[in-house]
Amino acid sequence: MFVLGVTGGIGSGKSAATDIFSSLGVKVVDADILSRVPVQKGESGLVEIEKRYGKKILLSSGELNRKKLREIIFEKEEEKIWLENLLHPLIADLISQELKLSSSIYTILASPLLFETKQSNHCNETLVIDVSEETQVLRTKTRDEVSEEQVRTIILSQINRSERLRLANHIIENEGSLDDLAKAVKELHQKLIAQIETK
Ligand code: ADP
Repeated sequence: MFVLGVTGGIGSGKSAATDIFSSLGVKVVDADILSRVPVQKGESGLVEIEKRYGKKILLSSGELNRKKLREIIFEKEEEKIWLENLLHPLIADLISQELKLSSSIYTILASPLLFETKQSNHCNETLVIDVSEETQVLRTKTRDEVSEEQVRTIILSQINRSERLRLANHIIENEGSLDDLAKAVKELHQKLIAQIETK
């Protein structure tokens, strides 16, 4: 099975791009959604988190207090590493399971942190959706109710643009219109199908 990893910084147009792939019949596995599964109520990740931090890490509903956990890992690097070591293998298993279920000609693994979390290991090739930081800020602010400062903080927490581009097998520049994006996605789609069929 051929897996194309799709990534890009916040507001680059990953969702817009993967929606287009999806409309072309390509199955899209969303790592962002799967990454929340192990910390749901009753799941093994949350059980381990509660063992480490006690009941104070839970809301009264028994669900994870994400804000509290974020504060802990923001303050202590070793706690961030502990959490990543716990969750990354659990998420990787879920991704593998979902990818196996796909029956489309190739499959997309969409992830905002494809390179940062080594989820690119699941992929044969990778695609980066790329825009300037100014466009990222502008489009994210239009989409979400966030300040410019909040967007820039998120950008700084992600892999830097040049490193991301260096790791990409394919790059789609998304400074133009949504129609331009659709055209570029369709071109790559045809190219991948031709590549897969000749193998
Ligand atoms: P990501 O998933 O990478 O965070 P999105 O796909 O949600 O980014 O795109 C961010 C915002 O920009 C969305 O509101 C989306 O509709 C819009 N957008 C994406 N690509 C374009 C484009 N080429 N032209 C105009 N708006 C765009």
